[in-house]
Amino acid sequence: MRLTERAIELPALASAHSHAFQRGMRGEAQRPGPSGADDFWSWRSAMYALAESLTPESIHAISKVAYRELRAAGVRTVGEFHYVHHQPGGAPYADRTVLADAVIEAAREEGLRIALLRVVYARAGAGRAPEGAQRRFSDASLDAALADVEALRARYAGREDVRVGVAPHSVRAVPPAWLGEIARYAAERGLMVHMHVAEQPAEIEACLAETGRRPVELLAERGVLGERFVAVHATHLAPHEPALLGAARAFACLCPTTERDLGDGLPDVGALRAAGARLCVGIDSHVITDPFEDMRGVELGERLRTGRRVTLRGEGGATPAEALWEIGSQRGAEACGFADPGGSISVRRDAPALAMVREERLLDAVVYSGSPSMVEGSPAPSGPPAH
Ligand SMILES: [Zn+2]
Repeated sequence: MRLTERAIELPALASAHSHAFQRGMRGEAQRPGPSGADDFWSWRSAMYALAESLTPESIHAISKVAYRELRAAGVRTVGEFHYVHHQPGGAPYADRTVLADAVIEAAREEGLRIALLRVVYARAGAGRAPEGAQRRFSDASLDAALADVEALRARYAGREDVRVGVAPHSVRAVPPAWLGEIARYAAERGLMVHMHVAEQPAEIEACLAETGRRPVELLAERGVLGERFVAVHATHLAPHEPALLGAARAFACLCPTTERDLGDGLPDVGALRAAGARLCVGIDSHVITDPFEDMRGVELGERLRTGRRVTLRGEGGATPAEALWEIGSQRGAEACGFADPGGSISVRRDAPALAMVREERLLDAVVYSGSPSMVEGSPAPSGPPAH
């Protein structure tokens, strides 16, 4: 952190888990559905309807809106967990990666670095072929999916602002037999591997029924865990599972604003940190664009879960706010395959939220009380920008 007369300069933020197209359903899933039983799975039905409708042009346009808002909020790096690949019905486009290319281009145009995490998806669940919108996500074979990863790697090989990784969607959508192969493929090439892990109890029950293993146990057994593995959510872990992630030096990417919107539950942040898992955060569903809220949500959720305050200690005497900023910037960039946060952002010292805050507590106030409107270059809530 560096203080100037007008600003607090801080490492740029990183949002390591995004589905940019879901920005297109903002405001559309906040009323009771016809079944009256609203949960993650009914939300997913609404999301699938949007996924069914996407075209190369619309995914590009929606992604630009999503990324522009992220950029204005202080984010410079996004991990895009990209799973809409094919035409409605599942036939590939003539240019197989046209949708991934549209998303990458949107990030470039809006001034973000991007890790395009090409999702591998195969089924609706154990023994069930893909259904409905899932056909757009699915590949007939693992070879076909990995050929697309190879095509993307070749296309963006010279681009400093693009990383390509591979993302087995979840234990629900990827058969166990593919997991080891994906891990080997990624390890040989030094690629990041991102995966939804233990977001919903139903996923864990299905995994136990199919394999006799919980999701993290299965990933450990198949050699998927490692320093380049990012477990997204890690919400419903058994007490011994954080240690499996920590021993592998894996990342856990928490998405507090989406997880609360979807009613996912609260992860055991204390256990993940104690085990040595590296934490980062992601916007995920774009229900709200507030990386400050995602960052502090890591610790505030832990307060709700444990009934305690100030639950997070930084390494080497770092304050909780310093530790959270590290989670929100450097760790997220690393989870996307970048060495550093890619520059700095400036927070306006004359922001109303910082009035009366002592200089030595500025970062605490920025992290626990700040919002995207404090970031220089973001649209001011009223009146002209400060510069
Ligand atoms: Zn996700």
